[in-house]
Amino acid sequence: MSYQIPRGCQDILPEQSFAWQSLERTLREFCYLYNYDEIRTPIFEHTNVFKRENDSSDMVNKEMYTFKLENSKTSLTIRPEGTAGVVRSFVENKMYANPDLPVKLYYMGPMARHERPQKGRLRIFNQFGVECLGNKSPYTDVETIALAFSILKALGLQDLKVCLNTLGDDDSRANYRQALKDYFAPYKEELCSDCKRRYEQNPLRILDCKVDKDKECMKHVPKMKDYLNEESKSYFDTVCALLDELEIPYEIDDQLVRGLDYYTHTVFEIVSLNKEMGAQSTVLAGGRYDGLIPYFGGPEAMSGIGWALGMERLLIALEAEGIELGQKPDLDVFVMCLDEEARTYAFKALTELRAYGYRCEMDMLGRGFKGQFKAADRSHAQFALLLGNKEALDQTITIKNLKEKTQETIAREALIGYVDAHMEEEHELHHQEEEE
Ligand code: ATP
Ligand code: MG
Repeated sequence: MSYQIPRGCQDILPEQSFAWQSLERTLREFCYLYNYDEIRTPIFEHTNVFKRENDSSDMVNKEMYTFKLENSKTSLTIRPEGTAGVVRSFVENKMYANPDLPVKLYYMGPMARHERPQKGRLRIFNQFGVECLGNKSPYTDVETIALAFSILKALGLQDLKVCLNTLGDDDSRANYRQALKDYFAPYKEELCSDCKRRYEQNPLRILDCKVDKDKECMKHVPKMKDYLNEESKSYFDTVCALLDELEIPYEIDDQLVRGLDYYTHTVFEIVSLNKEMGAQSTVLAGGRYDGLIPYFGGPEAMSGIGWALGMERLLIALEAEGIELGQKPDLDVFVMCLDEEARTYAFKALTELRAYGYRCEMDMLGRGFKGQFKAADRSHAQFALLLGNKEALDQTITIKNLKEKTQETIAREALIGYVDAHMEEEHELHHQEEEE
């Protein structure tokens, strides 16, 4: 019997965890700067949090992991995305009553979608996302896009493209929806089965179809921008002008409609142009949603905006550009125990070093000198302590600087002072930073 991870899932192994932690640190730092606070919602919700009336997206219609436990009537769904749960919580906890709107939240964690696994497309994957809830201003739209752009730039990504579009308000969308229905009516039979459903439910989504995208009938599709009312048009113009002011480069993409049905006004994606990304090149995506907060029972007309980035996809994009985020840090000290009788003596020295903030390890296998020395070498520690019966008896420490290849025997109580004084500058800085 062998056990294997389910298809479309992956373990984040210890050697990869350093890159993940480094990415998470950067994301949290930027949220700190932009005054976003963290929210953690459950990984499953009642199914109706995600499955909303008239939603035509693939995610809702065929990718959700939905289950009922035996003897239970409650249908639950493992979250396929973060926004719905966050908005549910925002309303349920009456965060909309905060005198200082917008409420700015970020989240990160695993999402589940039953998709066909491929590079950059998993069944369990991690998203980091932000939601800015409770106001509607082009400045807020641009602030969220600026946050996304700054993060990706700070991580070192070069080959980026920001794609931008507007879906307008409800009225503009209704006009456009009708125009699309009229346009596609004669081509309905040519469309794929999903698009036949989309035609009825939300014809905008036909523009996002990966199956139909090269068909003749897609070439002369009416454009959203010709159906925007004055208000929606001027909102979008302001967003564009502000992006120009901040010198954030973008391209307007008339076909960009996004995967979920709740979007209105500004929608955007950030794409990696690196060819190793293949079809899964969208690293980050988001937009404004006018209807979602009222849908969950929040104040009428209260709007929000947010985006989510795929953390696995972002790491693939970084790797494709040769950017390494984080590696296992070296040890400071490796404690060698040269006689079994001296083990407790060595163990206490190890514990004291840790109490003073040094990253240490000790041989626990009872290996011989050679074996322990090799282990010390592999750990890239700066110091090795060589502790045997003699040291235990004399209350001394034999300490070897593995970088400078020098060795001294010092008094037991001088250990911390010695390491403090002789640790490479880099390490000293490291510890000072931690103390602050
Ligand atoms: P796609 O068009 O690639 O299916 P989507 O429109 O379904 O993306 P969103 O729901 O907007 O994507 O999710 C935001 C981001 O999350 C995506 O841009 C992508 O980076 C990441 N993402 C989405 N689905 C997956 C998946 N199955 N595996 C890995 N990352 C994903
Ligand atoms: Mg998808």
